[in-house]
Amino acid sequence: MSRSEELFQAAQIHIPGGVNSPVRAFKGVGGTPIFFKRGQGAYLFDEDDNKYIDYVGSWGPMILGHCNTAVIDAVKASLDNGLGFGAPTEIEIEMADKVCDIMPSMEMVRMVSSGTEATMSAIRLARGFTKRDKIIKFEGCYHGHSDSLLVKAGSGMLTLGEPSSPGVPASLAEHTITLTYNDIDSVRNAFSECGDQIACIIVEPVAGNMNCIPPVPGFLEGLREVCDEYGTVLIFDEVMTGFRVALGGAQAVYNIKPDLTTLGKVIGGGLPVGAFGGKKEIMSHIAPLGPVYQAGTLSGNPLAMAAGLTMLNAISAPGFYEQLSAKAELLTQGLEAVAMANGVPFTTSQVGGMFGLFFTDQTQVTSFSETMVCDANKFSAFFHGMLEQGVYLAPSAFEAGFISAAHTQEDIEATIAAADRVFATL
Ligand code: PMP
Repeated sequence: MSRSEELFQAAQIHIPGGVNSPVRAFKGVGGTPIFFKRGQGAYLFDEDDNKYIDYVGSWGPMILGHCNTAVIDAVKASLDNGLGFGAPTEIEIEMADKVCDIMPSMEMVRMVSSGTEATMSAIRLARGFTKRDKIIKFEGCYHGHSDSLLVKAGSGMLTLGEPSSPGVPASLAEHTITLTYNDIDSVRNAFSECGDQIACIIVEPVAGNMNCIPPVPGFLEGLREVCDEYGTVLIFDEVMTGFRVALGGAQAVYNIKPDLTTLGKVIGGGLPVGAFGGKKEIMSHIAPLGPVYQAGTLSGNPLAMAAGLTMLNAISAPGFYEQLSAKAELLTQGLEAVAMANGVPFTTSQVGGMFGLFFTDQTQVTSFSETMVCDANKFSAFFHGMLEQGVYLAPSAFEAGFISAAHTQEDIEATIAAADRVFATL
């Protein structure tokens, strides 16, 4: 029995399912989750001393690779001053200034400790600001696990969302309208039915939780237009795309200014951080400036701020995103070429440092329904084959992949060569 298998058995005694977040359990791909003990640059090392080229990057934050010296040193330096005070610190100002500088749509920003907290708080703020209850989200987008967002489309078309998890009250879910990503007509229809009751639209500007699906031309522009028309708050959930698809996030790539933005992952440099912010007019409704309540014992924690700020400074270097994108493109183009050579129906998507892998004969995947009919069994076989070859991909056919600045051309070429061998077995 491998050490990972032993640990997985031990983990299941006191941890539900042996993991502290469900996707880690390998349910979608089968088999035993790998237990890691160390990361360095583009590599992960497991408890059995196997080495992997890592394309998960802690689900996004590790954009500089694991154990980046500048980030680790900044945390070590902060450590000696104490772990946190629950009182204001200077580094919080530096962080806020930096974020608002990188993302000009954000005039004010509040730090929290996870992406879930960021989206939950942004929605409360949008509701408090507009004095409306309904919200719109899109099928296949994930915005964390707060009650209003664990909702799927009900059978009655537009109205009455249904809880997608037990424990979410139906009386809350009914305020969430779930529409079709990349389908602006579904949005216009919803607004013509009840636009004056809709507090906000929350959207992943590049969807990264149903594989990786970029917005079709006109979709984000259309969202901006209807929000302007109805006085609805447009929230870009850039927890994944922020500092990932470009320094300024998807809002910079597609040139659309949301009213509020939510951030996570990269902004914490690997420590637990989230943030939400946007127009001053809206953000001034947050306590203590305004009446909408929001708080956090560990918010703005100095260690987390030190890691995140060092990360943001490093990725602000000129040419960083050009290089990151070029690497991701080299990878996706290379994978497509070897898939084709082996006669495997396969395509990819890529925006900046994130990418998607689709086992399908379509050349492009633009919707939730298209991603759902991709061959999940083939993906599982590919995933396990790549694992044996020393490549760690996200253990689910419906997650985006992430590349880091630490990945070298040799790493990418080795990954493509590994995929060539695995595709040949599919
Ligand atoms: N929004 C998006 C777009 C995400 O991808 C995630 C997490 N993958 C979240 C929100 C929730 O973030 P967290 O897991 O930090 O709560």
